Amino acid sequence: MNSSLSFSGSDMASSPSTPPNTGSSAMAPPSSSSSRYENQKRRDWNTFGQYLRNHRPPLTLSRCSGAHVLEFLRYLDQFGKTKVHTNMCPFFGHPVPPAPCPCPLRQAWGSLDALVGRLRAAFEENGGKPEANPFGARAVRLYLRDVRDSQARARGISYEKKKRKRPPPPPPPPPHPQFPPQMAEDQ
Ligand SMILES: [Zn+2]
Repeated sequence: MNSSLSFSGSDMASSPSTPPNTGSSAMAPPSSSSSRYENQKRRDWNTFGQYLRNHRPPLTLSRCSGAHVLEFLRYLDQFGKTKVHTNMCPFFGHPVPPAPCPCPLRQAWGSLDALVGRLRAAFEENGGKPEANPFGARAVRLYLRDVRDSQARARGISYEKKKRKRPPPPPPPPPHPQFPPQMAEDQ
């Protein structure tokens, strides 16, 4: 009985919080973007659950680690729609390439970043412990940062921090600058 996403933890045995799947709640007025977020989060969670069910060898949520999350993110790349140029492509670094090229399509960094955020929230809403949240694993953060930097270079765009959440504190300036100042990349 669709229990593949349930936790084996005993501390939530008395909270059957999952409503029956009626599948008919799509008539909600599109007034708030938060309900759209909630719907997207639910879809993402279902997608991840499906991924776990199809995983070989079998994988349960409670045994899911950051490494499995990375596996999931790489798996999603085959459905990506964002052209990411390779180093050898003549359009490497061009935001708007003038001609087609055979470079692969990937999931855009922004999509992955938002997806991980939604799944991280969903994990805890579904009974997962924050300290065991695989979507908050350090490896996942590092992977996302790596994807962001490499896609910024490959696509010739910069991802500005427009999010209102929590801007990271700026790093303290080094006392003795040892490197020449960086040149602006998009001149
Ligand atoms: Zn290319």
